Amino acid sequence: MEKKAFVTKDMVEDIVKKYPTPFHIYDEKGIRENAKALKEAFSWNKGYKEFFAVKATPNPFLINILHEYGCGTDCSSYTELMLSDAMGLKGEDIMFSSNDTPAEEFVYASKLGATINLDDFTHIDFLEKTIGYIPETISCRYNPGGYFEIANSIMDNPGDAKYGFTTEQLFEGFKVLKEKGAKNFGIHAFLASNTVTNDYYPELARQLFELAVKLEKETGADIKFINLSGGIGIPYRPDQEPNDIKVIGEGVHKAFDEILVPAGMGDVAIYTELGRFMMGPYGHLVTKVLHEKHTHKEYIGVDACAANLMRPAMYGAYHHITVLGKENEPLDHTYDVTGSLCENNDKFAIDRKLPKIDIGDYIVIHDTGAHGFAMGYNYNGRLWSSELLLKEDGSVQLIRRAQEPKDYFATFDCFPIYEKLK
Ligand SMILES: *Cc1c(COP(=O)(O)O)cnc(C)c1O
Repeated sequence: MEKKAFVTKDMVEDIVKKYPTPFHIYDEKGIRENAKALKEAFSWNKGYKEFFAVKATPNPFLINILHEYGCGTDCSSYTELMLSDAMGLKGEDIMFSSNDTPAEEFVYASKLGATINLDDFTHIDFLEKTIGYIPETISCRYNPGGYFEIANSIMDNPGDAKYGFTTEQLFEGFKVLKEKGAKNFGIHAFLASNTVTNDYYPELARQLFELAVKLEKETGADIKFINLSGGIGIPYRPDQEPNDIKVIGEGVHKAFDEILVPAGMGDVAIYTELGRFMMGPYGHLVTKVLHEKHTHKEYIGVDACAANLMRPAMYGAYHHITVLGKENEPLDHTYDVTGSLCENNDKFAIDRKLPKIDIGDYIVIHDTGAHGFAMGYNYNGRLWSSELLLKEDGSVQLIRRAQEPKDYFATFDCFPIYEKLK
């Protein structure tokens, strides 16, 4: 599929008068259309709910848009719980899916009435000791081990993942939780990441539904919800076909009707915890070309760096690039597009075919709406960019200002930089 930027050169030239590059900008219209399509795709399930994975894009303005479509939040840390709390989300709107969890996070999550999704068998005792009881509603994360395959092709390797209960632990865990007073049970699993296929969720659902039927039979636990978690991916590359959420919803529906309904479990709610799928395509990192360098290769240096988008440096991830105003020019140059970190992996693109780039050009780095800004770090003393929202009416709203040196130095109570600079 052709990848088109949702901003034009003219728009960016206007935006930078107020908000200089680099910045992340999000497309409200795209976020809304997608959230609506997700809701419709699962409307066959009465209890359906999406808990947006906050870690993907922890910005209250964006999460509030999703909330209009019934989405809650999926939190994994204290500060993510704080954000949900500050947004006024209620307990039933919050899923707490964490691992290696500190005690104070269980305390906070239970105080908020969030649904706690336990990552490990030993956390049953840890939770009980920490908060003094086992909540009536509780969920456990499942990890069957081995490889996750669809049609004999390996999608991911849960056997190598740190998360979740083994099958045996899950059966035992449900029994123990029931004895300790739990009444409403959930199962959660995240077995493959960034899947660009309509088959992942239906296959995962099938496995979890079959497991749920066995669990109810053997343990007597009343399973109220099955959480398919994240993992629906997006087409980062132009040659990839986007997932069709309607087809995915129908695939899960079919498995539901074939497995849960005949087992008398037709009232089970389906939950999702999508992050990437909800926001990824609706974010751009916009950056300006500062330098060109001709040495052993052709380099284009921009004013963003891996501190603003870590995925290429961290995973060698592909992010599509559009040179604004040159959308229709031939891709007859080969460049490495780099940031300024003193790290040779600080490259947004390597050997990328692009149109001829000139100093001052604006470049859009696509699909940065999830796991983009959020992974930002401050290496080399590089600061986080601003976040902007392109509203449906075409106006632009600042939804997070750029970091300034004062923010970077804020934790030096013991070495007050600004006192010393006076
Ligand atoms: C990261 C994460 C998600 C979201 O994953 P995506 O790939 O962004 O959809 C959901 N649930 C949990 C527990 C996660 O850690």
